[in-house]
Amino acid sequence: MRHWLCSVSIASSTLSKNIIMSAKYTLKIVTDFAAAHTLRDYPGACHRMHGHNWKVEAEVVATELNKVGMAIDFKEIKAATRTIASRLDHYYLNDLPPFLDINPTAENIAQYFYHELSKQLNSSTIRVSRLTLWETERACVSYSED
Ligand SMILES: [Zn+2]
Repeated sequence: MRHWLCSVSIASSTLSKNIIMSAKYTLKIVTDFAAAHTLRDYPGACHRMHGHNWKVEAEVVATELNKVGMAIDFKEIKAATRTIASRLDHYYLNDLPPFLDINPTAENIAQYFYHELSKQLNSSTIRVSRLTLWETERACVSYSED
């Protein structure tokens, strides 16, 4: 038993020397939009048309800073997220692609924002890491990809 503990200690010590630390900055902005939707095939009140004031939290991970000391200007993340939100704001989501074919659930809206934002912001040093969509003050979904 004593020998086993000793081996674990040596392995742990070796492992800690091999850890490579790299810089990572996570930036987050928050915006919102209002829209109506219905959930097809949903066995409850949400199959009737109703609306939400959705809150959108966009998180971006960066590995480097520019010479100003910024990973990316918050304004750039806000503008890109607002552009996507404006396509949905004050619309009936079921009338818009991609929600003509898939239900405009919080999960699918979060995935839509994540992919559209990734197209605009991802680069060699910046990546959209997480998109959180709040459907109410007490319920949200986060979407990310590994
Ligand atoms: Zn709803």
